[in-house]
Amino acid sequence: MPLLILFLLISLFMIVLLWNNQNRKYQSGNTVATAYDQWTNDQLLERLWGDHVHLGFYEDERMKKDFRMAKIDLVHELVHWSGLNKLPRGSRILDVGCGIGGSARILASEYGFDVLGISISPAQIKRANQLTSKDLLCRFQTMDALDLKIENGHFDAVWSVEAGPHMPNKQLYADEMLRVLRPDGVLAVADWNVRQDSDLPMTKIERLILNQLLNQWAHPEFSSIEGFKRNLLESDFSGGLVETSNWSKQTTPSWLESIYEGFRRPKAVLDLGIPGLIKGFREVPTILLMHWAFSKGLMEFGVFKARG
Ligand code: SAH
Repeated sequence: MPLLILFLLISLFMIVLLWNNQNRKYQSGNTVATAYDQWTNDQLLERLWGDHVHLGFYEDERMKKDFRMAKIDLVHELVHWSGLNKLPRGSRILDVGCGIGGSARILASEYGFDVLGISISPAQIKRANQLTSKDLLCRFQTMDALDLKIENGHFDAVWSVEAGPHMPNKQLYADEMLRVLRPDGVLAVADWNVRQDSDLPMTKIERLILNQLLNQWAHPEFSSIEGFKRNLLESDFSGGLVETSNWSKQTTPSWLESIYEGFRRPKAVLDLGIPGLIKGFREVPTILLMHWAFSKGLMEFGVFKARG
């Protein structure tokens, strides 16, 4: 009997992965926009995880902390690590791939910055505007990060959290962010990266899992921390200074926490009825694979700070 249950669970796991694979595999920027439009309109992500679509920060791997608090902490950690907090109030900040504006609102309300958030998903921009008080210096626009409609050197800082995996051209992503940054301005990026192959070549199983992680959530490619650092350094707009760090230990607890949230806030899912339940369960296999990949070092949480 237990064997039969295990077999059924594994079969269900595989069916869900294959189904997601067909529907969410990256084809163009439109795939990404459609996926985020759906995730925003069905409200599941926001009801479960709040207004931050990114991982949380845990000082200690075994630390127990409210998941939403951990996400807010990640924003403050990145602000301080990158030196963004040294910029004067009123500094102009661009948030590239802003989701529904969680980080942008903190940058505006707690640091006094003048923030523009951009996303490829029109539904996210609409929701970001609904969630943002008119008194805040914080605006949102639908725009492609690979084709920013912004003049050179316009911003004092550029911020981008967990948007990089959706970019088919990492060099262009780096170039565009650095192009709109003023000379000596601050770039702060946090990203999901794959382990550098030359450090430890990937096994067949790892390659199989990596392909799943790419196809599940509309990711064309992951870069390595080294690879993206090179993109930043080799850009025509580079100020020549790039520093990186690996925050995998501090962020990996987020994966299981994101599943536990479903049990802590069952109403968030159940109030959406059967479709909500199905949508919630649909993400579980990918989240478990992500947890495995980050725990085993196949994936790494890279942070980058650079000067314009
Ligand atoms: N930074 C946000 C959201 C991270 S999710 C947060 O921390 O809450 C990834 C985000 O990148 C989504 O908002 C998605 O729409 C955006 N994105 C992906 N590809 C993009 C592109 N080509 N141009 C602009 N935004 C993009």
